[in-house]
This record gives sequence, C-alpha cells and structure tokens, in this order.
Amino acid sequence: MKYPRSLFTVAAALLFTLTAHAWDYERHRLINDLALTTLSKEFPAFVRLPANRERILFLSGEPDRWRNNRDRALRHLNSLDHYFDLEDLAPYQIKPADLSHFRYRYVEQMANARARLKLELPEANSDHIKGHPGFLPWAINENYLKLVSAFSYLKVYEKMGTEEEKANARANVIYRMGILSHYVGDAAQPLHTTKHFNGWVGDNPKGYTTSRRFHSWIDGGFFKATQAPDLAALASALRPAKLIVRPPSRDLASGHFQYALNYILAQHKKMEPLYQLDKEKKLSPETPGAGKIFLETQLKTAAQTLADLWQTAQTEAPPDRYLQTYLAQRQLQQEEK
Ligand SMILES: [Zn+2]
Repeated sequence: MKYPRSLFTVAAALLFTLTAHAWDYERHRLINDLALTTLSKEFPAFVRLPANRERILFLSGEPDRWRNNRDRALRHLNSLDHYFDLEDLAPYQIKPADLSHFRYRYVEQMANARARLKLELPEANSDHIKGHPGFLPWAINENYLKLVSAFSYLKVYEKMGTEEEKANARANVIYRMGILSHYVGDAAQPLHTTKHFNGWVGDNPKGYTTSRRFHSWIDGGFFKATQAPDLAALASALRPAKLIVRPPSRDLASGHFQYALNYILAQHKKMEPLYQLDKEKKLSPETPGAGKIFLETQLKTAAQTLADLWQTAQTEAPPDRYLQTYLAQRQLQQEEK
C-alpha cells in the first residue's frame, strides 16, 4: 500500500534515515503500562507508586535515546542490541540452536565463521554494525540478569540497609526494569527480527512492499493515522504475570537466554504475515481491522513477556550474600563503638 504522507510520516521517514527505532515512544510506554497491571500482589509495591510508574514508562524509551547520539562508538555498542535479523545468521552457517549465550563467545563464533567462509563485510561500515545480525537475545538476557542483581541487593538492603541505601536500591530496580523493558518491547515488533526491516529486500516473488516508510508505519504511524490502542481494553485481555519455567533440556545457559531467543524466533514467524497483511491492504487507515488486531496482539505479547521476566527476576533473585556479610560486619562494628 501507499502510506499516507501526513506531516508525521514525512517526519518519521526523515527520522528513519537517521535511525530505525522499533515501536515509537508511545507504544513502548503502553507496553510497560500494560505489564505493570499484571504483576502479582507479592511484587514490591513501591514500583506502583505514581512517580515510579511514570519513571518506568519514561525509561521504556531510554535505549532509543542512546541511538539518537551519532557518535560511532556508541552506535557500535548500542544499536546492535535492538534487533536480531535472523536471515543474517545464514551466511555464517550458524543455527540458532548453536548460538553461545555468552555474548563474546558468540562474537568469536561469528569471527571464526567469517574467516573460514571468507565472508566480506559491507563497505561503508563506519560504525562496524552492517552485516551483523544483532544482539537482541543477549541484550534481553543480560539486562534481565542486571535486574536480578538489583533485586538481590534490594532484598538485603531492605532488611539491613540505611534509609538512603534502601532508596538507592529501589531506584536501581526501577531503572533496571525500565531498561530491560525496551528490548523486550523491540522484539515484539516483527521487523526487528529480520533483514526485511524496512521494506522487502532481494527476491520478492510475493510482491511485498519495498517502501522505506513501512517500518515507521508499523512503529506507530498506523496507530497515529487510525486510533491509539485502548489501555483498559488491552489490559483486560491479559493474564496475571507468571514465572518463567526453565526448559528441562540440556539448556545450560544462565539467566533466560533460551527463553529470550525462543520469544524472538516466535516473533520472526510473524514477520511475513505482517507483510501479507500489508499486501492485502489490512494495514491501511481505510480498512484497519485485521491490522489493528495484529499489532495490538504484538503489544500484548510484549507486555506479557516483560511482566513474566520482571516477576521471575524478583522471585528468583537470591539475597546478595556478599552484601549480607558486609552489612553484618558493619553492624557489629557499629555496636562495638
Ligand atoms: Zn529500540
């Protein structure tokens, strides 16, 4: 379809030449707002205080703000964390099941494949990110583990810390929940799992759109041209957050890497149906029904997955033993004085 050239889409198209985001800020905020509604009563109540809730929503956009900086070293570090273009693994002859969950081992796997298969990287690659599939599953898992760490020391400070320490530890949990949320949200935008991230590229037997405005249309253009999702209606369709069960297989990965990877693989399967919807004009403002259902399902999927990760991090986080010993010693020393 031809995407309406409202002022917004012109601006979005211009923006896209700078950087491809996933959901726009409003959609990322919505995902977090939805996720917060599903947390159990046992989840620490301070996260629902209005100022903390607002901060979690604000932070949903934080890793995209880092992308606004054009510094090449920051782009190199940060941009790859926002996507995992599955087809770009194929030239390396690495299957998803064979990926190391250690980020730098994965980089080695790729470097070895590059040398063995004599793969050339694209030219004009000033930030050295082109030709790389991306790090989204690693970003989700590593940010999950940083949240686990924040809960681990919060649990100890809540019992043995000063008021300042408790306040700082709570603030860090809020920050970590917010940063993790961004990557979980990105993964539910199917165009963040594919080399066809902004219009179909290469062989195109089914005649899918090649528009360079397609990505920003899915990010938020569609909702701005039709009707923003209704928070209450979407929230009423969500189940309570539940704990993630580790697969009983030979999964030796720490954190929930396999879960994050499987989540992304499942979103990748929705990429071609998204192009198909567009081809059938179901993402058009005139006939938005099926497109709206599809995109709202993706937002709900992100919210549900995010809430499960938050809930699991809080439950699984073991009390920080090192800190416990340190604070016990501090208490003793204070008592001796
Ligand atoms: Zn992003």
